[in-house]
Amino acid sequence: MTAQAPHTEELLGRYERSLLGVFGRPQLVLDHGDGAWVWDVDGRRYLDLVGGLAVSALGHNHPALVTAVSKQAGQLVHVSNFFTSVPQVELAERILGITGAPEGSAVFFCNSGAEAIEGAVKLARRTGRTGIIAAEGAFHGRTTGALALTHKQAFREPFEPLMPGVVHLPWGDVAALEQAVGPDTSAVVLEPIQGEGGVVPADPEYLRAARRLTAEAGALLVVDEIQTGIGRTGSWFACQQAGVVPDAMTLAKGLGGGVPIGALVTFGPEVTALLAAGQHGTTFGGNPLSCAAGLAVLDTIESEGLIAHARAAGEHLERRVRDLGDPRVTGIRGAGLLRAVTLAGEWSAAVTAHGRDAGLILNPVASDAIRLAPPLVVTTDQLDLFVDALPGLLDAATEEGP
Ligand SMILES: *Cc1c(COP(=O)(O)O)cnc(C)c1O
Repeated sequence: MTAQAPHTEELLGRYERSLLGVFGRPQLVLDHGDGAWVWDVDGRRYLDLVGGLAVSALGHNHPALVTAVSKQAGQLVHVSNFFTSVPQVELAERILGITGAPEGSAVFFCNSGAEAIEGAVKLARRTGRTGIIAAEGAFHGRTTGALALTHKQAFREPFEPLMPGVVHLPWGDVAALEQAVGPDTSAVVLEPIQGEGGVVPADPEYLRAARRLTAEAGALLVVDEIQTGIGRTGSWFACQQAGVVPDAMTLAKGLGGGVPIGALVTFGPEVTALLAAGQHGTTFGGNPLSCAAGLAVLDTIESEGLIAHARAAGEHLERRVRDLGDPRVTGIRGAGLLRAVTLAGEWSAAVTAHGRDAGLILNPVASDAIRLAPPLVVTTDQLDLFVDALPGLLDAATEEGP
């Protein structure tokens, strides 16, 4: 790479001498983008099939987002939460509209997914109970509270002891939920599709059972739509496909189209009343810049029909992957444009590396699964570039052995 990529090599050297090593060595040094394409500092072009981890909903350099952010930056970037602004109020109203939340629901804005989860944890604490039920395989973020809900041992262990009271139940196991949800349960927190866990969808029956059991026990059902929300799975929110209305919902990732913003949505007056004035806060949360970005994202998803497109493009991808009939590809799971192509061997890291050399950005979400979470504006022709390349990438990957 050194000879052909002088700027990349030089910048990665500087990166490693100046940034904390928690992310390892970055794969690319990116410079600009357009739609689903991005270019690195050495002028090489890549098809971005990961979308900044389900964040860049409108793709890169979308004129609606660029215009909204530029205009708002020239007006007001920040006002503090002593004050509010038109974009903040409008975005809250829009979010309540698309979640289908009942009268008396409300939005708390923050800056990331983990912060939205922290808000949900504090909401749950206000029920007066301390038990939280999460799922094995769950990912809810890296702050210490969110980490207590995240399941992966490697993420947790170096930071223990974490917040007590959290139990992780086998994913999809209704009987285990029935056993565990009780008078000490403050909340059950679930992703409709486990994203970091490998793009593993919940059976709609499982989500409905969680809804029923929490309601019976007087506990909150918190649905983490940070990765699945904002149109990605072919509806505004994935839990809507199961017909489940939660007590609280966490949002981030796609909401700002790349501008940092998170949100906690409380459903109905009783849940909303749990957090009173002074009990929670944030300096940057709900600033006019990120809210203007959120409004541009929601407006554009609507005006460009991107939810229906996510559904259709996801089905197209699924059909094309299955039609490959390649025995090294065991299936494709997920919904809309949040997908994992599953492999018969532990080849995903090698496929990802060869994909990058071929100009495709992929994510090895598990050793045998490749995640795709492209911008919602990705075209079926662009998805075909990946499907057509996959057998060759698998040839290259399997030559190296698993
Ligand atoms: C990414 C993610 C988070 C954490 O979001 P951050 O913005 O990285 O803090 C939480 N929950 C789910 C489901 C996620 O995918």
